[in-house]
Amino acid sequence: MGTKRIVSVGLAVLLLLSLAALFFSVSTSPHLMIVEWSIEHSGSRITLYQISSEDNSNITDVFKLLPFHWYATAEYYINPKNKYGFSTDAVVSAITAAVNTWDSQTSAAVFSYKGTTSRSAGKRDGYNVIDWGPYRAGVIAVTYIWYVGDMIIETDTRMNTYYKWSLSGEAKKMDVQNIMTHEFGHWCGLDDLYDAECYWLTMYGYADYGETYKRTLGLGDILGLKCIYGE
Ligand SMILES: [Zn+2]
Repeated sequence: MGTKRIVSVGLAVLLLLSLAALFFSVSTSPHLMIVEWSIEHSGSRITLYQISSEDNSNITDVFKLLPFHWYATAEYYINPKNKYGFSTDAVVSAITAAVNTWDSQTSAAVFSYKGTTSRSAGKRDGYNVIDWGPYRAGVIAVTYIWYVGDMIIETDTRMNTYYKWSLSGEAKKMDVQNIMTHEFGHWCGLDDLYDAECYWLTMYGYADYGETYKRTLGLGDILGLKCIYGE
């Protein structure tokens, strides 16, 4: 009898300890998802006959959700430091335009711009930051999403200085607003799409130099946003 009681008390203590450990790990160590956006190697992966030559994004209703999204308004900061000669105003203008492309499609306040910062993207510091910085070749931009359960608690995006950047869709450069509109789709909780039929959508998983068509959302992008945040 005595031994049994000790064993069961021991089990109960163990159970409590593991529950506490679980709670502790959930409350203090959010998970991190990193979404990298690869450059398109044109010709090898996608063949032209699969892609509609005309923009059909107004009828393509495909979207894919990430398993988490924002429950609070995502307050974001921009680190405008760059080696491309862009003024702070021009950088802020391109990035807030990308945000507003999403925010204008729902009555929910998904984003709120809080100002410039000297903080870096890719660190969990309680600030949602967009910056330029080094990253490995082949990745145009990377979005970091820290989440607990299905709730995003922090998001950062880094534009890779491995590439040249443009504010006006110049050839051989990545367009800031084009790329950031896609990345903010990830902030919203949308995933990449890789089927050729999704080529004209903002959440299509590849991008290229000089591209600007992803600055505007397609039907699937808007439906995905509304699926999470409502009309
Ligand atoms: Zn992506």
